[in-house]
Amino acid sequence: MIPGPVDVDADVLQALSGPVPGHLDAGFIATFGRALKRLREVSLAPGAQPFVVSGSGTLAMELAVANLIEPGDRALVVNTGYFSDRMAHILERHGAKVTHVRAASVGSAPDVAQVEAELRGGGFKLMTVTHVDTSTAVLAPVEPLVKAARQHGVLAVVDGVCATAGEAFHQDAWGADVYLTASQKAVGVPPGLALLTVSPRAIAAWKARKAPVASVYADWAEWLPIMEAYEAGKPAYFATPPTSLVCALDVSLGQILAEGMEARFERHRRMARAFRAAWSALGLKLVPTSEDVAANTLSAVYYPDGVDASLVGRVKAQGVAIAGGLHPEIKPRYFRVGHMNRVSPGDVLVTVGAIERALHAAGHRTATAGTAVAAAQAALSG
Ligand SMILES: *Cc1c(COP(=O)(O)O)cnc(C)c1O
Repeated sequence: MIPGPVDVDADVLQALSGPVPGHLDAGFIATFGRALKRLREVSLAPGAQPFVVSGSGTLAMELAVANLIEPGDRALVVNTGYFSDRMAHILERHGAKVTHVRAASVGSAPDVAQVEAELRGGGFKLMTVTHVDTSTAVLAPVEPLVKAARQHGVLAVVDGVCATAGEAFHQDAWGADVYLTASQKAVGVPPGLALLTVSPRAIAAWKARKAPVASVYADWAEWLPIMEAYEAGKPAYFATPPTSLVCALDVSLGQILAEGMEARFERHRRMARAFRAAWSALGLKLVPTSEDVAANTLSAVYYPDGVDASLVGRVKAQGVAIAGGLHPEIKPRYFRVGHMNRVSPGDVLVTVGAIERALHAAGHRTATAGTAVAAAQAALSG
């Protein structure tokens, strides 16, 4: 129950266990082509160009920035924490002049009006938003932010690494230009794939650039013909694709689409509500400052008074892996629980039960044993 790599379905693992397919193998070509089509559907972006490249989420971020930014371009970072800082770091490395709009405090969401005021000031090529900041479990108001960028002719890049296929997102309808993620979070595949869906507007901006892309491996010019070829049922080679992982991705994306995107978003909301009911029953305070900015893919929860980061080990001893803090300002003061991909009512009850027992063992006995499990159960039954 950590916020990635997540628990992976048996059929997805099974797809990894066969003979390693060659990248020119007819079966693999069909699988890769289908996975690309499915990625477009998962992003709800029928008009977008999908990219599947060997690497992690950080490469997905760099694949967006390296192709859209030229030295001297201005970029607006809607900053909610650790991964927004990383995006700024990548932007600066590629020569962007970065302006931050920061949330008022750790755990609060950025103010849409403030972002709009910056956008109105003009001059930005691109805006980035972290859909769910995994360091704070803050869910950014992506829809109005992306629409504001659109309105001002600014490219909108959304880091969905802890959100895609878990949090509601309608790339085409909202007008986002890049939605990017990695295989090991809500997409439900082992780590190793950078995934992007790119709007025709962003492709046009990339084609119009004057400066060469400052990376060969990250250059869309290398990858676009490969993606187009595989989708057209033809092989192509630039750099060897991670063939086994692509097969696993295809299976997982198929499962995601079989569940249905709206049903999947709703299941994540339901599981998150049950977790929040449990945190509240335990008297614990969330890092997100209000319910409407709390992510549905993970929880970030402050330790109660008298309990420290050793709780993570105590929960592990009860049979469940959770994660410690990540945001540098509050790192030793809170823990994180991932609840994405296959998360089920059973996972909620087992996890809450383990945390409740570990808190008791750590001397936090404000509630009768079972209170938090009952609260989660009531939320799941509601
Ligand atoms: C995990 C994560 C990343 C980085 O992904 P890696 O696969 O670890 O490189 C970027 N952004 C967000 C929001 C994340 O949760």
